[in-house]
Amino acid sequence: MMGYDLDLFVIGAGSGGVRAARFAAGFGAKVAVAESRYLGGTCVNVGCVPKKLLVYAARFRDDFADAAGFGWRLGEAEFDWESLIANKDKEIHRLNGIYRQLLNDSGVTVVDGHARLLDAHTVEVAGHRYTAEHILIATGGWPVLPDIPGKEYAISSNEAFFLPELPRRVLVVGGGYIAVEFASIFHGLGAETRLLYRRDLFLKGFDLGVREHVRDELGKRGLALEFKVEIRQIAKQADGSLLATLSDGRQLETDCVFFATGRKPMIEGLGLEHTEVRLDDQGYIEVDADFRTAEPSIFAIGDVIGRVQLTPMALAEGMAVARQLYRPEQYQRLDYEHIPTAVFCLPNIATVGLSEQEAKARGHRLHLYEARLRPMKMTLAGRDERMLFKLVVDADSDRVLGCHLVGPDAGEIIQGMAIALRMGATKAQFDRTIGIHPTAAEEFVTLRTVSREA
Ligand code: NDP
Repeated sequence: MMGYDLDLFVIGAGSGGVRAARFAAGFGAKVAVAESRYLGGTCVNVGCVPKKLLVYAARFRDDFADAAGFGWRLGEAEFDWESLIANKDKEIHRLNGIYRQLLNDSGVTVVDGHARLLDAHTVEVAGHRYTAEHILIATGGWPVLPDIPGKEYAISSNEAFFLPELPRRVLVVGGGYIAVEFASIFHGLGAETRLLYRRDLFLKGFDLGVREHVRDELGKRGLALEFKVEIRQIAKQADGSLLATLSDGRQLETDCVFFATGRKPMIEGLGLEHTEVRLDDQGYIEVDADFRTAEPSIFAIGDVIGRVQLTPMALAEGMAVARQLYRPEQYQRLDYEHIPTAVFCLPNIATVGLSEQEAKARGHRLHLYEARLRPMKMTLAGRDERMLFKLVVDADSDRVLGCHLVGPDAGEIIQGMAIALRMGATKAQFDRTIGIHPTAAEEFVTLRTVSREA
């Protein structure tokens, strides 16, 4: 440690920062972590966790509707937003406490307050200075709203979790994870919801078949989708409602405009100017393959480096930094291939590996296996909902390059597929796998006929 107060000072107690701090302390390092807002960061407070709780709430709409086909007679269902938010807040508060406990139990000092770098080894928090041999920046990201007149009347995901009441009408703007998830939440909970996306189809980067299938399924549920349109201006009306002026000249009255138009790295007031840390051309902290910034003593991980903005990647990056510094013999560079991911819109999307379009762009000759099926539960429920199963297979090696699913609990199914793909499974190995009957997931091991070649 050579004269420093600490071995490692972590700035930001979100998923990545907490994991790095706990692992480093577990390896015997003397560690502190500073947090200015809430323990657990975006994921626990205004991201994955409360979002999933709200998605569960939204799903009951389908469950109630489906129940009749199974013989249940229910009274009129009534939804109470205030109870949901209060219960969610209680759960998040519990998790905040668990995070503090985990850090305390691992011997990490938690410093409450905003951390500012004074130099390559010194951090100041609430007037106290801490010196550390290494510093890890894990400050995450923050929503960005387009700079349009009236943007102050709009909200981002940060505020959506704390709205005093469920808006009657919502305009959701954006075409990424957050936009489609929240559009499903608001729609499921009963708000009249319209999603506006500026290009011709949302969920850029996902397999085209998945994007089209999700567009159709969301549309069938009555969620209004509009593409190639943007909001130019928002005005507040005398009765408190909002009037959004669109790029095509239309005006829509609404009670809430929700922008899910991307996130920026949280670097304001961090004191990066006192160090050699550099930013990339998108404004994220630039790091090498080992998460080292241009300042040799400073590392950065998670959303602030803008690589793959997913909690499990921040966790993996945090562990990688801790191992690299304190267990170098265990350290392996992270592999960014085969990262499974799920979008918790209703129906869910989950995917691992390459989309058909990515696989083609990489020069693979492809066999594509696709099935659109009505899940068993939907038969008695009487609902016209289809699941999409898609395997992207390299025609020469028989290796499964991509596995895509749209349907209930897609993430639960794709997690297992991710192990198979990571191990380099071939289609023949999928075919030799025995299905579990009757499940939807068994479709992945019974897709026998090539649907298309590409
Ligand atoms: P994304 O960057 O994924 O999407 C932003 C969307 O907003 C894009 O569709 C973009 O359009 C659009 N957009 C950007 N600027 C404007 C503008 N000025 N006007 C209109 N539209 C605009 O961001 P999200 O906020 O949805 O999510 C951030 C990240 O968080 C995700 O990438 C994901 O990694 C992570 N996340 C993961 C979740 C999960 O694992 N389930 C859930 C939520 C978030 P265009 O495509 O044209 O650029």
